[in-house]
Amino acid sequence: MQSKERSTATATPPRKSAVESHLVKEWPEAAEPQRPPTGGATGRTLPASLLTPPAPPPLPHLEDYREIIGQGQVDALRFLARDLKGKTIKMVNSTSVGGGVAEMLNRLVPLLSELEVSTHWDVITGGNDFFEVTKAFHNALHGASYDLTDAARKIFLMYNEQNRERMQFGEEMVVIHDPQPLALVNSREAGRGHWVWRCHIDLSNPDPNVWDFLRPFVERYDAAIFSSQSFARRLPIPQYLFYPCIDPLSEKNKDLDDSTVQRICDELGIDRKRPIVTQVSRFDRLKDPVGVVQAYKLAKKYVDCQLVLAGGGAKDDPEGAMVLQEVREAAGSDPDIIILDLPPWCALEINAIQRASTLIIQKSIREGFGLTVTEALWKQKPTIAGAVGGIPNQIIHRLTGVLVHSIEGCAFQIRYLLTHPEFAKSIGVSGREHVKENFLITTNVRRWLLLFRILEQAKAKS
Ligand code: UDP
Repeated sequence: MQSKERSTATATPPRKSAVESHLVKEWPEAAEPQRPPTGGATGRTLPASLLTPPAPPPLPHLEDYREIIGQGQVDALRFLARDLKGKTIKMVNSTSVGGGVAEMLNRLVPLLSELEVSTHWDVITGGNDFFEVTKAFHNALHGASYDLTDAARKIFLMYNEQNRERMQFGEEMVVIHDPQPLALVNSREAGRGHWVWRCHIDLSNPDPNVWDFLRPFVERYDAAIFSSQSFARRLPIPQYLFYPCIDPLSEKNKDLDDSTVQRICDELGIDRKRPIVTQVSRFDRLKDPVGVVQAYKLAKKYVDCQLVLAGGGAKDDPEGAMVLQEVREAAGSDPDIIILDLPPWCALEINAIQRASTLIIQKSIREGFGLTVTEALWKQKPTIAGAVGGIPNQIIHRLTGVLVHSIEGCAFQIRYLLTHPEFAKSIGVSGREHVKENFLITTNVRRWLLLFRILEQAKAKS
């Protein structure tokens, strides 16, 4: 089942274009939800309309971004793409749904293709054993201690080899995302194509054994890309900084009228008349949803609020169900805690939940970049987030949000922001400006085009 879910497939969008055919977009089969479709510490059931994926909305075109970033920026992208026309890119990662990487690729791939830099997205397949190992690697690279066994190494290499055998790498630029498909670089042929490793995780303090195992693969790439200056390692290859990004026109981030927000809140049983504090994220220990429940309970002694924990499981994360259970236990029978285990296609619902929120929290203990923070800031929401990973790139303390280091700190900030609405509003406004300048998909497209041109130029010179 799992490997079937992860195999490369193309969705059937209502409007098929050359651009869309490059998209890999697969949902788990609607008839087999991963977990019972109930939400809420109070046992609320998700509306039936959420149990099947909606038809994908039409994809925005480059011109549609003009209203947000201006004509000059759109023209600059076309100019940068001119010399790359007809060239091809392959992006490879380990899940097509859930998590920030899939989120970004879903938008980046069609935009690059629209610029006639034809971009294909492949997803590697693997069994539970592979994803257990790669999840452990992920945690270990984020600094957790881990006993790297020969069996784990073998599983990692075996699935990489299986994927390598079934995949072709004829593109001019191959981009491998994160450690899961790292060993596909074994397919690299001398003198052909640029191979780039796009690392989305924080490598500043990795478990040495896991890093020593992976590093020789990384060193065989032409370049490595990190999401924050602080994530990089000392490597013999060039390193680039690419901030992750959101698409302001996606279902997740587009403007919504208030009646849509209200309808969705009604469907989900969220009461907009009282303050709403929300964390949207996968049910993952590193996102600390249990810590959020504890912080809410501390703050609740002083201020009235409800807590919404909305999340789901990325397909490459076997721990999700366990963490969800821990969250339910921590929540107990508090009727003001609403836990929503959302299917992965609920982008519009997440948008509405974020817009309905009074405050947004992302109390991560470790983080890659934290796209949920970007999404919250874009919606001008006062945001409280753990000072980890790429979050401090987004949250300048007390200017574009507030950073916290503990459950008590988080509780204090919930209370402070709920009782200082003018200040809360001002950080929300600055947060949106910060995202507009730095973390939109159009900035990301520009970075990919520049990198591709730099690599082409270096090859021509050599
Ligand atoms: N997300 C989602 N459904 C969920 C939980 C998260 O669509 O149930 C989205 C969230 O809105 C964000 C991304 O998944 O766009 C998570 O990215 P982030 O960088 O915050 O964390 P990651 O999961 O990649 O560690």
